[in-house]
Amino acid sequence: MTTRVRFAPSPTGGLHLGGARTALYNFLYAKKHNGKFLLRIEDTDKKNPPSNGQTIDDNTESIVQDLQWLGIEWDGEHVLQSARHDKHTKVADQLLEAGKAYRCYDSVLRDSKDAARTEARNRGDVFKSPWREKSHKDAPRNADASSVVRLKVPHEGTTTLDDSVKGTITSPNAQIDDFVLLRSDGSPTYMLSVVVDDYDSNITHIVRGDDHLTNTFRQQALYNACLSANIFSTQQAKPAYAHIPMVLDEDGHKLSKRTGSSSIGEFRKQGFLPEALTNFLLRLGWGHKDLEIVSMPQAIELFDLKGLNAAPARVSYARLEHLNAHYLRTLPLDDLQARLQPFLPASADSDARRRFFQGLEGLRQRATTLQNLVALGSFYFEKPTLPLPDATARKVWDEALLNLPPQALTRLDENLAQTNDADWQAHALAQTMRQTAQSLSLGFADLAKPLRAVCTGRMDSPDISEVIAVLGKRQTLERLEQALAQPQP
Ligand code: GLU
Repeated sequence: MTTRVRFAPSPTGGLHLGGARTALYNFLYAKKHNGKFLLRIEDTDKKNPPSNGQTIDDNTESIVQDLQWLGIEWDGEHVLQSARHDKHTKVADQLLEAGKAYRCYDSVLRDSKDAARTEARNRGDVFKSPWREKSHKDAPRNADASSVVRLKVPHEGTTTLDDSVKGTITSPNAQIDDFVLLRSDGSPTYMLSVVVDDYDSNITHIVRGDDHLTNTFRQQALYNACLSANIFSTQQAKPAYAHIPMVLDEDGHKLSKRTGSSSIGEFRKQGFLPEALTNFLLRLGWGHKDLEIVSMPQAIELFDLKGLNAAPARVSYARLEHLNAHYLRTLPLDDLQARLQPFLPASADSDARRRFFQGLEGLRQRATTLQNLVALGSFYFEKPTLPLPDATARKVWDEALLNLPPQALTRLDENLAQTNDADWQAHALAQTMRQTAQSLSLGFADLAKPLRAVCTGRMDSPDISEVIAVLGKRQTLERLEQALAQPQP
């Protein structure tokens, strides 16, 4: 039997950490078993507008793009659940015909939000409509009497679920309410659509958040009703389940879809790499020994439902940054250059870009995101303004002027100026700086630090001899001399 799994997001928002993690686990499971991974957009709740101010189409588009960007590729075209409307209503009609569902005409109860259900639940009860036992001929005669279609859930018996994460759970059927299959406007509910779609797409495993656990018992009741009405075949095995615990934020609260901080699109804009995010998501709820850095091919090889954690995972953004820093350091340089393009300042000319890319190896050792990498190398794009805006760098420069022998920095400037273009390389420049310091009975850092301050405007730059080698002679001397020409502090 071919493994077939799916990711079924509702386009009520964009893609967030929780959903992306579900998608990733399904994708890995399919790849590991040479199976199929399907994408189904559950766009059936047309009445409630998306919570993020976007349209359903915009959200669908951004979910699709974010999944592609993460490298989570699905098989075939993605399916819009709304396109299967007729099939869903047909199944509801078949259930009605078979006596497995009934029309509920109670005007108070027909609300799609199912207020009666909520009310019963609040009473600690399970909702059963009076229309469950009434015959069709009792239906109101007035032409506009509308109804909802409910599943006739058996009162007796139990349902047992063997879940890869939760273990075996048994629940009495009497606790399942007669939920709505078709709303009063005739539109199918999520509960109906999801079961029919999973059956028709031959889904073998459902891996999803454990917020769906109670839905699963309802969906089992519906599945059983379809089986006994011969709408579904007993030849097709029921899907197996894995309900993964929620993702919690750093404070241990449920991660909200509405929080910008967990949106995949936001991480992308900030310059996180898809490799880092997928590695992060993988480890957020799954483990293999003490492996931390796991590439996608390795994840495909190792992934297993048994490795899913039963306890909720807590997001650590520091951990994500750490992983991102790792991938920034290890990407091939030309690949990194290509990914940096959208982050470069629009004003940077080709010389500035060339300098930045030449200095990339040093810069990327310290960077956490692509955005941060560009910020760290801002001095390759433009001269730091004077007086230096960064307080630490300004202090280093001012103190050097006060504490070093009066001619020290001028001597450094002269010696650098005498270095010919062919020797303007990190090693030779470090040598010049060392010799100058020695001739003044100073340490290397006494000169290197103020030079770093005026050339980069910050104190966390890569090795200063490498920086000035990349900056070039003209830029270096200009920065040093302009600072020397400033009035003394
Ligand atoms: N559309 C549902 C959601 O976004 C998921 C349905 C499912 O995985 O069965 O929560």
